[in-house]
Amino acid sequence: MDYQQLIEEVYNEVKSANPRGKVADYIPELAEVDGDKFGIALVDLEGNVFGVGDYEIPFSIQSISKVHTLTMVAHIFQSKLWSRVNVEPSGNPFNSIAQLEFEKGIPRNPFINAGALVITDALTSKFDDPIAEISKFINELSGKECVRINQEVLDSELKHSERNTALAYFLKAHQNFNNKVEDVLKTYVSHCAMEMCCVDLARSISYLANDGYSIYAKREIVTESYARRINALMLTCGFYDEAGEFAYRVGLPGKSGVGGGVAAIMPHKFSIGVWSPELNEKGNSVKAIMALELLTDKLKFSLF
Ligand code: GLU
Repeated sequence: MDYQQLIEEVYNEVKSANPRGKVADYIPELAEVDGDKFGIALVDLEGNVFGVGDYEIPFSIQSISKVHTLTMVAHIFQSKLWSRVNVEPSGNPFNSIAQLEFEKGIPRNPFINAGALVITDALTSKFDDPIAEISKFINELSGKECVRINQEVLDSELKHSERNTALAYFLKAHQNFNNKVEDVLKTYVSHCAMEMCCVDLARSISYLANDGYSIYAKREIVTESYARRINALMLTCGFYDEAGEFAYRVGLPGKSGVGGGVAAIMPHKFSIGVWSPELNEKGNSVKAIMALELLTDKLKFSLF
């Protein structure tokens, strides 16, 4: 399979169809990003890189970082984690307060904001400097020092964190939050404000395509059984309340972020990072989803 030719075909078809959306603006700094940016990087399990478009430009990975923080917790906490966070798709917006109230402080899954806050809380209990540990971990997964926290995006989101603060206090009211709300929020917003390019992002999740072993870190990151579980969570919960549609159209485990990035994997073959900032009304990148749909159509295989 000529991956370079494949992603170039996909890139050109998406460019000429030019589907449009809207750059996220509830974090004001993200609204400054050029909506026309578009890049794809595919990394195979030998470490070969195939890229097209803006694939080397760093962007705000936002919620994609929840895959990395979940991995850190899966590794450290093993099965204890699942008494604090469920593993069901939410079917609701990623920042829903009503759902958390309804379900008595146990978030539906680790990728909605409430679930990710519980995970960041767990990391805050474990580490003196959790954000340094998260950065170190993602750098290790990517095989280089590539993570940079964008201070403007961080400050911009912190100033508009009313909903996430409310979620954290709801969690605390249900005894599912152990640290100071402002400490955990700062760490959460910091890992969301990390910037990486498509290649480094694809490298950083390559272990999920490779039964838990990272060829960059040269070690087992999680067991094969945990890698399968994280992939199952990405497939069922990785795209907010559009996870079913992504599974239907693309059929790969993946995770999106409101910065317009999508990271996805094809087990035993490759990982892929796609970035285009304009989002649909569910918060997923319009061009990235179209690109991945075309990719699996052309490959004639997905998970299914
Ligand atoms: N930092 C963003 C938030 O908490 C992440 C959202 C996302 O990418 O889904 O609202």
